[in-house]
Amino acid sequence: MTFDPETAAFLIAGPVRIHPRVLRAMSFSSVNHRGDYFHQRVGEIREMLPMLFGAPGHQAILSGSGTAGLEATYSALLRPEDRVVVLSNGNFGERGDEIARRYSNHVTTVSAPWGHPAPLEAIAGALEQGPVRAFITVHNETSAGFANDLAAIAPLVRKSGALFLVDGISSVAGIPVHIHDWGIDGIVTGSQKGLAAPAGLALVHLSDRAFAELKPRTQYLDLAAHFKSLEKNDTPWTPAIPLFLALHEALLLLQEEGLENRLARTHAQAEAVRAAMDALGLELFAERRYASDTVSAVKIPEGMDEASVRKALLNTYNVEVQGGQGPYRGKIFRIGHMGIASWGDLLLCVAGLERILARTGRFASPGAGLAALSSRMP
Ligand code: PLP
Repeated sequence: MTFDPETAAFLIAGPVRIHPRVLRAMSFSSVNHRGDYFHQRVGEIREMLPMLFGAPGHQAILSGSGTAGLEATYSALLRPEDRVVVLSNGNFGERGDEIARRYSNHVTTVSAPWGHPAPLEAIAGALEQGPVRAFITVHNETSAGFANDLAAIAPLVRKSGALFLVDGISSVAGIPVHIHDWGIDGIVTGSQKGLAAPAGLALVHLSDRAFAELKPRTQYLDLAAHFKSLEKNDTPWTPAIPLFLALHEALLLLQEEGLENRLARTHAQAEAVRAAMDALGLELFAERRYASDTVSAVKIPEGMDEASVRKALLNTYNVEVQGGQGPYRGKIFRIGHMGIASWGDLLLCVAGLERILARTGRFASPGAGLAALSSRMP
């Protein structure tokens, strides 16, 4: 078999596979975005957002990828004179740091190597050095298959009085996010990950406090304007109409499955992939207790060429996984298992990997990876 993008087992770290119902929802004639049909769909989307975030709050939808949501949030809540603390331990932590530095002149970065937790003392130390306007962190580091322990970090942020702003782009609807218990003031997700909708929309949740303190500094990403329009099921500018229709259907699918069930399935699939990697003798990049449930980053064994492994998966088995980013290009590959990822796709991926390893003579237990994966299937 050769690679066919329409039928491939699509397991990159987002965008993810899109259900045909979602595809059909967006194959729709142009609709008047100021008319009743569209407003009704937007109204129904609005009603489903608390289900997505697992909490009620001030919630908005922006046309633009996840980064648009991050920039809308940080630009409206940070001012140049504000002290901001950013946790950076991966590609997207670095990106968050860059965005914060555009809007505040006093950013302190608490860094740890990609895929490693920062010591809590280092975070507490940075938060204790005078008043801090906001603490910014990525929840799930997609680049490293690693999840920051927000339950442990949250009390430090609360104690400091800083706004707690979270990049939840690859965690929302994939990994439990306890917005109220952790005191999160702002969290952003993207349509293309746990939600399993096409890329191109950002979804933002704000607490009452963050909402009250919004001072937008950009026109297109003016969050206050988005909230105001949304009260009337409207958008300030022409929205990405087909994507809104797709989002509506993706939220219905999530509602039908139930957020708790989606989180449980995502966790079960992550556990199964981790067990399969163990059985194949492949090592996870992140320490096991921080390993992400939405994306597994796997080290490529010494002497093997990472790009060739992915190429063989793609061209022989029609399975697409993703390479590493930045300094980890060629050193790790990443398997996404979020949204509507299927057991069938995961079985094919593990079977393909097993054959590729076997052909190099590195793996002498045929079927062990598949057995490990399938024994964790429901
Ligand atoms: N933050 C995280 C954790 C991500 O995984 C991504 C994308 O993969 C981004 C930010 C950037 O989002 P986007 O590419 O949708 O703008």
